[in-house]
Formats: sequence, structure tokens, C-alpha cells
Amino acid sequence: MINLILFGPPGSGKGTQAAKLVERYGLVHISTGDLFRYEMSHNTPLGQEAKRYIEAGELVPDEVTIGMLRNKVEAHPDAKGFIFDGFPRTVAQAEALDKLLAEKGAEVSALIALDVDDEEIVKRILKRGQTSGRPDDNDESIIRKRIEVYKKETAPVFAYYAEKDKAHKVHGIGSIEEIFERLCALIDQLVEA
Ligand code: ADP
Repeated sequence: MINLILFGPPGSGKGTQAAKLVERYGLVHISTGDLFRYEMSHNTPLGQEAKRYIEAGELVPDEVTIGMLRNKVEAHPDAKGFIFDGFPRTVAQAEALDKLLAEKGAEVSALIALDVDDEEIVKRILKRGQTSGRPDDNDESIIRKRIEVYKKETAPVFAYYAEKDKAHKVHGIGSIEEIFERLCALIDQLVEA
């Protein structure tokens, strides 16, 4: 199995690149942000719970997120592998993911971080907010809160996988196609190794 974590701050282009990578490598894409938005749009109990956190720019509690992720992975028993996008976002989530994959006799192959600076992120998310309809994309103070949460709670996930020699960085500024080529070059190298 090839299991990739696409990592990086909010607005770094994970969703855009994940969609392209899934096509090229035949993996299953799991975006916890998309899953939460689906639940919110259907007003499910999970969606109602997640909404409170998401609209404040905070993380949804680990046990809720991990349970949802586990269900999604288990729904694809024959997958060749997964691209995780927006997960893990805390070290506890990373530990849960490692455990879940180990139960399947698999592991995280690599974490790839899209490297983009804060000002570019704020600019991109505000632009996305004009069309995304996401309330969390339309308020600069909520965007800055998400960046702060990323640095405090999510960035340690990079160090967690760096310790296992699995963390890589890719320059995240350029055209969508340029960044995609950078990612593919790295993944091809990792898969061959
Ligand atoms: P972005 O790409 O802008 O970071 P996402 O679509 O990945 O946004 O996530 C939107 C929101 O959903 C996050 O700000 C957070 O509140 C919640 N969320 C998504 N994934 C997770 C996760 N793994 N753990 C906790 N909360 C999450």
C-alpha cells in the first residue's frame, strides 16, 4: 500500500493537489475537511457538532475526527492506498492513524508538506472565500486563528514523522501544474526506493 499524508497550512493547496494525485496514482482521497462539510450540509449530529469548532477556526475534537476517519478507511478495504488530506492535524491523530494502518499490515509511506508562507495563505483563503461559501474563509481573524492553531497543534505532526524519516517538504508557491510536478517527482522517487 502507498499511504501519503498531504500536509501543510490551511489554504496551502492540499485539496487541489490531492485531487490530481489521486488520478495519477489510483489512491483513495480522504479529506476530513470535506467530510465535515458534507456532514454539515446534511445537518447530521456529527455535522452539528463539528460546525461549532470549524466556524470558530478551531479543531474538531480528536475522538470525533478519528472515529470519522476510521469509518472512512474501513469503507475501502480493497484500496491500493490512501491520500490523507487535512489529517492528521494533531500528534494524537497521527498516533491513531499509525495504529489503524498497522492493523491492516500497512503504514504511512510519507508525509509531504506544502511549504507556503502566512501572507500568501491569508491572501489565497480570502480569495477562495469569495466563491467557496465557507464562513471560515471569509473572516481574516478566523483565518489567522486557523494559522495559529496550525502552528501550535498541527506543525508538531511534521516533527513526529521527521523522527521516523518520513517527512518531506515541497515548495508550495508556483502554478498548480508546477507544484504537481514537484510532488510527483518526489513521490516517484519515494515509491521506487
Ligand atoms: P483548510 O484546507 O482550509 O485547512 P479543511 O477543509 O482541511 O481546511 O478543514 C476545515 C476545518 O475543518 C478546519 O479548520 C478544522 O476546524 C476542521 N478539521 C478538518 N480536519 C480536521 C482534523 N483532522 N482534526 C480536527 N479538525 C479538523
